[in-house]
Amino acid sequence: MGIKINALKCTNCMACEMVCSYHRDDGFAFLSACIVSYRAKEKKDYFGMMLKEEDVLVVARPEGLEINKIGEEADPDKEADASAKPMLLREGCDLCEDMDDYGPMCVAFCPVDAITLD
Ligand code: SF4
Ligand code: SF4
Repeated sequence: MGIKINALKCTNCMACEMVCSYHRDDGFAFLSACIVSYRAKEKKDYFGMMLKEEDVLVVARPEGLEINKIGEEADPDKEADASAKPMLLREGCDLCEDMDDYGPMCVAFCPVDAITLD
């Protein structure tokens, strides 16, 4: 079981990032979130998400998913790479394992159902 992201639905509201950081730190500390939204500066309404899992970094773009094994060389031409580096230092997604009553926080709080449990 894991998180599935549909970047075509994402509106870049950052709610998932906020609640993930809350799950991590009992406060809103974006740098501790293992899910992060990003937007491409040069493209209007182009949003994507990055998700740090135990061994992989998932980059969900409107045109599709990219799964990068952590430790392998990233493609320097890809847009999300500049912000990917700090992501690698963060804890991987644990599906909010200590929040049984609420379920995965990002799934529960995404207002457009762009994140689902797979
Ligand atoms: S399931 Fe929990 S730990 Fe994983 S990305 Fe979502 S909020 Fe973060
Ligand atoms: S909560 Fe949903 S819409 Fe908002 S940034 Fe995350 S994935 Fe996108």
